[in-house]
Amino acid sequence: MIKKELDLLGIKSENPGTSTGTKWFAKGNKITSFSPVDGKEIAAVLSTTRKEYDKVIETAQKAASAWKDIPAPKRGEIVRQLGEQLRILKPTLGKLVSYEMGKSYQEGMGEVQEMIDICDFAVGLSRQLYGNTIHSERPGHRMYDQYHPLGIVGIITAFNFPVAVWAWNAALALVCGDVVLWKPSEKTPLCAIACQHIIADILKKNNLPEGISSVVSGDAETGKWISEDKRVALVSATGSTRMGKAVAVTVAGRLGKSLLELGGNNAIIVTPNADLKMTIIGAVFGAVGTAGQRCTSTRRLIIHEDIYKKVKDALVAAYKQIKIGDPLDVKNHMGPLIDTQAVDMYTEAIAKVKEQGGKILVEGAVLSGKGYESGCYVKPVIAEVENHFDIVQSETFAPILYLIKYSGGVENAIALQNDVAQGLSSAIMTSNLREAELFLSNKGSDCGIANVNIGTSGAEIGGAFGGEKETGGGRESGSDAWKLYMRRQTNTINYTTELPLAQGIRFDL
Ligand code: NAD
Repeated sequence: MIKKELDLLGIKSENPGTSTGTKWFAKGNKITSFSPVDGKEIAAVLSTTRKEYDKVIETAQKAASAWKDIPAPKRGEIVRQLGEQLRILKPTLGKLVSYEMGKSYQEGMGEVQEMIDICDFAVGLSRQLYGNTIHSERPGHRMYDQYHPLGIVGIITAFNFPVAVWAWNAALALVCGDVVLWKPSEKTPLCAIACQHIIADILKKNNLPEGISSVVSGDAETGKWISEDKRVALVSATGSTRMGKAVAVTVAGRLGKSLLELGGNNAIIVTPNADLKMTIIGAVFGAVGTAGQRCTSTRRLIIHEDIYKKVKDALVAAYKQIKIGDPLDVKNHMGPLIDTQAVDMYTEAIAKVKEQGGKILVEGAVLSGKGYESGCYVKPVIAEVENHFDIVQSETFAPILYLIKYSGGVENAIALQNDVAQGLSSAIMTSNLREAELFLSNKGSDCGIANVNIGTSGAEIGGAFGGEKETGGGRESGSDAWKLYMRRQTNTINYTTELPLAQGIRFDL
C-alpha cells in the first residue's frame, strides 16, 4: 500500500534496528510491524541486543565530546537542515506515520509539521541559550550562570506520536549540545528507522561522527537498559503512567535526571456561558481524533445541568455523522486503534462503565467486514457517568467520552475536573470572563495545560508541553523547556587583588 514511501524512506522488508548514524547493526529478535489500517505486515525490524546497546552507548559517548565542542549556532545549522529535509519528505513520512500508527493522513502530516516547527524553534534557540548575570554582593566580583550540555539524552517514546515526540526532544537536545539515543515504541518501529535514515544522511553530509543520533529497538527491557544506565544523563520518557513510575524510580535510584510525559485524563468544562457550536466541534474532535489515542484526547465533559440536555443531544447527533474507516481516505473522521490489544482494552472499559453504573448514550462496537479486516476499528462511545467511578478515574486510550453533570458555580466543575490523578490538559468553554479567569487562577485547573474556548487536544510547539501529578511533571518543546537538556553552572569571578568572603565572613591569617 505504501511501497513507494517505504523505498523513499530507506525501509526494506527486514531492517536492522540498531544504528549510530550511517552504521546499522542487526542481531536481535524480529519485531514485525503490522498496519492497523488493513492488518497487513509492513516490514520487520531486528531488535537491539545488550552487546549492541553497549556499542551504541560507547559510540555516543565519543560523539558527545566532539558534538559539545561545536558552537551552538553551528549545531543549530544541522537541525535547520533536518527541518528542510522534513519539509521535502512531509507527505512521504506523513503517510508512513498514518499507515503504521493508524491516524489520519492529515494528522500524520500534521505530526511531521510539528517536527518541522520544533526544528525551526530549535534553530533560533541555538543563538539564545541564555543565562543570567547577577550582581555580586562583593566588590570587584561578577556573577553569572550558564548552561552546558549534559551528554547522552535517552528518548523513550510512545506509539501514538511515533515521530513528533522524538523531534521535540532531539531538536532541543541537539542544539543544547547533547547527543540523542532513541528507543521508539515497539508498536511503531518503522517510523523511527525512517527518521534515523533522514538525520543520519544529514550528519554524514556534514562530516560529523557516528553516535550523535542513535536508535535502539526493542520493548520495555530495552527501555530499562536506558533508565538503569549511568552513562545516560537525562532520560526523557513518554508513555503510560505505569511506565513512567518504573522509569522514575530507576532513574532516581542512580540520581539521574528524568523528564516524564505520561497519561492524561483531560476534561472540558462547559458552562452555561459556553458557545455551544464551538463546544461540540472541540469536544468531538478532542474525543474521536486519532481514535481517542492522544495524550490530550478529551475524556471527560463536565457540563452544567442547565445546558446538559442540549449538549448531550447535540453530541449524540454529531456522533451519528462520524465516518470510520481507512485513515488514508480523507472522507473518514476516525481510523483504527493501534492493535487488537487496544481493542480489548476498549471493550473491557465499556463493560466496566456499565458495571459501575454508567449509562451508555452512544453504543460501542468492534467493526468487522469489508474495510475493517484488521480488527482494530471501533465505534466511538458516549457514556453518562459520575466522576468518582474507577473507570472514569483512569485513562482508557480509546474513543470513550464521559459526560458528567455539575450544578451551581464553576468552582464545582473545577473541583470535578481536578479530582483525578492525572494533570495533563484541561479546557473551559465560556464567554464569561470571571469563569475563565477563575479556571486559569491558582484556584482553577491543576493541569499543565489549561485552555479557554479551545479543546484539550493538540498543542503548539511554542509553549512548554506537559502535565502535573501522574502525568509526570515534565515539560518539553517550547518556552524554556530547553533548560532541562542542559546543566546549569553558577560562576563567580573576582577581578580584584583581595579575597573578600561572602556574607562578610572574615578569615584572617
Ligand atoms: P507505554 O507506556 O506502553 O510505552 C511507552 C514506551 O515506554 C515504549 O517505548 C515502551 O517500550 C517503553 N516502556 C514500557 N515500559 C517500560 C519500562 N518499565 N522501562 C522503560 N521503558 C518502558 O505507552 P504507549 O501505549 O506506547 O502510549 C500510550 C501512553 O502514552 C498513554 O498513556 C498516553 O497518554 C501517553 N502519552 C503521553 C504523552 C505526553 O506527552 N504526556 C504523549 C504521548 C503519549
